[in-house]
Parts: sequence; C-alpha cells; structure tokens
Amino acid sequence: MADHAAATSTLPSSNFDAVIVGAGFAGLYMLHRSRGLGLKVRVFEVGAGVGGTWYWNRYPGARCDVESMQYSYQFDEALQQEWEWSERYSGQPEILSYANHVADRFNLREDIQFETRVESVHFDEETERWSICTDRGNPVSAQFVIMATGCLSSTNMPDIPGMDLFAGDIHHTGQWPHGGVNFDGKRVGVIGTGSSGIQAIPLIAEQSEHLTVFQRTAQYAIPAANRPLGADEQADVKAKYPEFRAENSLYPNAFSLRMPLNETSALDVDDDERDREYEARWREGGFTFSWSFGDLGLDLDANATAGEFVRGKIRELVRDPETAEKLCPDTVLGCKRLCLDTGYFETFNRPNVDLVDISKQEIDRITTNGIETGGREYKLDAIVFATGFDAMTGTLLAMDIRGRDGLTLQEKWSAGPGTYLGLGIPGFPNLFTISGPGSPSVLTNMIVSIEQHVDWIADCISAMSKRGHRTIEATLDAEENWVEHVNAVANETVYPACNSWYLGANIPGKTRVFMPLLGFPPYVEKCDEVAANGYEGFTLT
Ligand code: FAD
Ligand code: NAP
Repeated sequence: MADHAAATSTLPSSNFDAVIVGAGFAGLYMLHRSRGLGLKVRVFEVGAGVGGTWYWNRYPGARCDVESMQYSYQFDEALQQEWEWSERYSGQPEILSYANHVADRFNLREDIQFETRVESVHFDEETERWSICTDRGNPVSAQFVIMATGCLSSTNMPDIPGMDLFAGDIHHTGQWPHGGVNFDGKRVGVIGTGSSGIQAIPLIAEQSEHLTVFQRTAQYAIPAANRPLGADEQADVKAKYPEFRAENSLYPNAFSLRMPLNETSALDVDDDERDREYEARWREGGFTFSWSFGDLGLDLDANATAGEFVRGKIRELVRDPETAEKLCPDTVLGCKRLCLDTGYFETFNRPNVDLVDISKQEIDRITTNGIETGGREYKLDAIVFATGFDAMTGTLLAMDIRGRDGLTLQEKWSAGPGTYLGLGIPGFPNLFTISGPGSPSVLTNMIVSIEQHVDWIADCISAMSKRGHRTIEATLDAEENWVEHVNAVANETVYPACNSWYLGANIPGKTRVFMPLLGFPPYVEKCDEVAANGYEGFTLT
C-alpha cells in the first residue's frame, strides 16, 4: 500500500488501492479514513464541488430535518467543537459550507477528481482488481471500490408527454441551478408534495406572481419550528458532545428528539390525554411528534389517531374548506417519510396560490404554455419537479458494474437489491456500498450511519491487509438471510402499508422490496459481531 505522501503526488497515476465514487459526506470521510490507513486512493465526483446532496439540492427552503447539532460528523472532536451552526435545522448553504470546510480542513480536495462521472466498474478475475472507466477516459484500476454514491442522488423525472414542447423553464429540486432561479413576475407550477416540495412551495409562493401546486398524494407535515440556535444551547451540547453522540446512537433512528418517546399506546388513553400529547409535540416541532405514543409505527389503529390529529390541524390552518380537504392525507402517517414544514399549509391561504388535485386524474401532458390535466390547461412560465429520486439503487444501477463472470449489477438485482448488511454483494468482491440497500441508511441520521459504515469498511480493509487477504466477498447464503431479515423487520411495522420510495413504489416498473433496515443499534451490533467473528458471512481469500 502506498503512503499518503505518494498518494498526493500521483494524481495522474492509474493504479490505486481504493477508488471512492462520490464526494458527499460518505466519500469525504471514506477518503479521510483511507488516507489514515496509508492507502493510495482516488475519489471521482460528477459535481464540481464536494457536498453531494447539499451541492445539488439548492432549491429555496432546502434544509435538514435532523437537528444541526446532530446532523454533522463526530469523527473529529476539534471539528465538532469549532463549527458553529446558526439554526436549529441548517439551511442548504450552511451545510454546503460545512462540507467545504471539512474538505479544506483535512486537505481532501487533492485526491478528488471533480466533474468526472464513473461510467463502468469491472472486476478482473485474473488480477483480482477492479477496472474503472470514467467519462474523462484514462481508465484506472483499484483493489477496492467504495460506492459513496448516495441514496438520494438520482433524480426522478417523470416521463410526461410533451416535456420538450414547454416554452418556459423546467427545474428539478435535486438539480437546482447554482445561481438560483428568479421567479419574479412568473407563473410557476410545482409538481410533487414530498419533503422537497413542502420545503420549496412556501418560498416559491413568496417569490412568484402565481403558484399552482399539482398534488398527487397529500402528505403529512409537522411544523419544523425552526429558529436560531442559541449560543448557550450550542455550548451545552459541545460541553458533552461525545456523550451526546453516544447516547443518540442508541436510538432506533440514530438521533434523539427534544421530547422522550412516550411508550404508552395511543389506544390506552382517552381522547383528551391523546390530544394533549399530540398538541405538545406539534408545538415543540420536528419528528418528536412521531414519538407521541409507542405504537404509532406498529399499529394502524393507533396510527390513525395521529393522522386524525394532523387532519384537524390542516382544517384549522387552511381557510378554504375545499382546499383543506384536498390537503388532508388519508394514508398511514410516517409510512411515507414524514415531512417537516415551515408555513406549508398556511401557504394555501395566499391569494396567489392554487392547489390542483391530480390524485384521480394525472397530468395528461405538458404543452408549450403549461400543464394540461382534467381537461384544463394551466398556463405557466416555469415548472418545478419536486418529484424525488430513484432512491437507494438508481445511482448504482446507472453505472455499468460487473463482478465475477461478467455478472452485471442489473442482472444481480433484477428481483430487487440483495446485499449482505447493505455493505457487500455476492459476486462483487472488494466492492463496498456505503448506506447500501439493506442498511439503516435513510431511516436514520444519515451522517451517523455513514460514519459507522466508513469505519467498518476501513477496519475491514485494515484487517485484510494485516492478515494478508486479497479479497472479501459476501456469500449468497448471507445475502439471502439478510434480505429476508430486512423484510421481516419491516413487516412488523406500518412501513409497507403505502406506496413509498422506501419500497421503490415511486418509480414505474421498479421491483417492490423494502430497501432500508429498521433499527440502528441492533444493526451496529450485528456489524461488529460479523467483524469480531472474522467477517462471518463473507469469504476471504
Ligand atoms: P450524496 O450526498 O448523495 O453524495 C453522493 C455523490 O456521489 C454525489 O455528489 C454524486 O454527484 C456522486 N456520484 C453519484 N454517482 C456518481 C458517479 N457515477 N460518478 C461520480 N460521482 C457520482 N439525511 C439526514 O439524515 N437528515 C436530513 O435532514 C436530510 N435531509 C436531506 C435533504 C434533502 C433535500 C435530500 C435530497 C436528502 C437529505 N438527507 C438527509 C439524505 C442525504 O442524502 C444524506 O444525509 C447525505 O447527505 C448523503 O451523503 P452521501 O455522501 O452518502 O451521498
Ligand atoms: P418524494 O418524497 O419522493 O416526493 C415526490 C413527490 O412527487 C410526491 O408528492 C409524489 O407523489 C410526486 N410525484 C412523483 N412522480 C409524480 C408524477 N409523475 N406526477 C405527479 N406527482 C408525482 O421526493 P422528495 O420530496 O424529493 O423527498 C425525497 C427524500 O429526500 C425525502 O423523503 C427525504 O428523505 C429527503 N429529503 C429530506 C428533506 C428534509 O426535510 N431534510 C427535504 C427534501 C428531501 P406520490 O406521493 O403520489 O408518489
């Protein structure tokens, strides 16, 4: 393995110990750890800068919904002490500045090749190395390939007839122009009311002349109650940051909330007590609402009481009763990811905002002048697609990844993504997926999950080097048992009860499999156990 000094002086080189794809939070930390192991490493990144999600998603209102003091790295105490967050939930510009700060602080850029898309990754069985081709030419080879390509990095652009006819501008929230978009004096249409749409809509309503929201499924949203982060509050956390982080990693989603989980059943209390609990958490803001009762994620009847409470709030907040009814979700609360909002429902009281329900009559076509649905044309100057992502698998499957015997990842995953621990795939030796399907990833504070994966991979590579192993590969048995486990855990909950992107249901034709694993602490225990038992479930050569 090359030393770091060699790595930094060999940018044109073509043989690496490890190639990392992606320079978001996963790729940045993986690079840092790889260097610490003395690996000669190269990162390839499509974007012109670091930050991943926060580099691409620059739409108005983009911010995290895990609180800033938690949505950040913990691997370096000095880093977490020196960085100051300004709000309870940081906005995209601040998170992007943080990612840039990390890249500068640890001199990461010198090993990152920006504006370079990895197109193919093929395993050569003779040399037991991967060959990596990019859109810049100059193929490189590496012993290890680490996919830090993100769970929400392939935008979902629906195939609506007439897209190319539209005379105005079309934007997707996940690929927002860097210079921003001027909506002044414009008639704007937003398609999609998930987390991105719900964050963007209130601001686009303020910035535009008229906004039409096209809603296919009404969504539950809880007030974020965002506010400036007090210096005292920040200092209190910093005074015990390692303990705070350790405690948070013991929660199922790897983050703590401002009010503790109420373990009582929602069905064991009377209506007044139930409403008092929901009201207190609604006021506190954030995901605390989903901890109102212990069985909201487990029991559909309990869950329905939370849904009814939110519908009551929507009817209070939205003045026009017909619009309020259209905004009332009738799905299981939290089964699609719960949204946090800032003035979302109130936005529909504005005179320049209309809601079009497309739940029964989808958009027929896009015309030169706007959007046609239900026999009417809505005249628009700009259309914003807040239509989400081909989550968890889209970015990986967009590459030509071939393992042993030329097996493509597309073939391997034709019946849904199979992995062991979300980290390894049989037939694809020495290829790791950070936050891969089958790991807690998107159901957690993702920076915590990313760090756990990166540490596990780095420790694994180090152990292999010490023991003289050249390859590590998940076994088919381990994969099959793991996929079964992931689905069995989900089936104990309300999660499979709706058409969410967790199930791949947002992408026409995508196989329906529950992709992330619920429960961070038992997962970490399992990963540690696997490593302690000599990487059981993997074959090492
Ligand atoms: P990404 O940040 O997605 O980075 C992947 C990188 O890989 C991208 O830069 C991409 O360009 C690059 N890449 C992909 N394919 C290739 C290729 N073929 N060649 C080269 N480069 C490639 N999570 C939370 O925990 N809390 C939150 O509050 C939260 N808010 C979010 C808000 C939004 C709007 C979105 C979209 C997601 C949010 N997430 C949140 C999830 C977020 O994606 C993760 O928290 C985290 O930023 C993911 O980091 P990553 O490095 O794994 O992936
Ligand atoms: P999303 O949750 O998948 O929402 C997409 C929206 O577009 C849904 O309302 C969907 O309707 C609609 N849609 C999709 N295809 C459509 C079509 N053909 N016609 C009409 N409507 C269509 O995507 P997202 O809002 O970008 O969020 C994705 C994930 O990113 C979130 O769940 C979260 O994990 C993360 N995120 C987090 C934050 C945050 O607050 N920190 C912000 C943004 C994103 P249906 O529901 O009917 O499919």
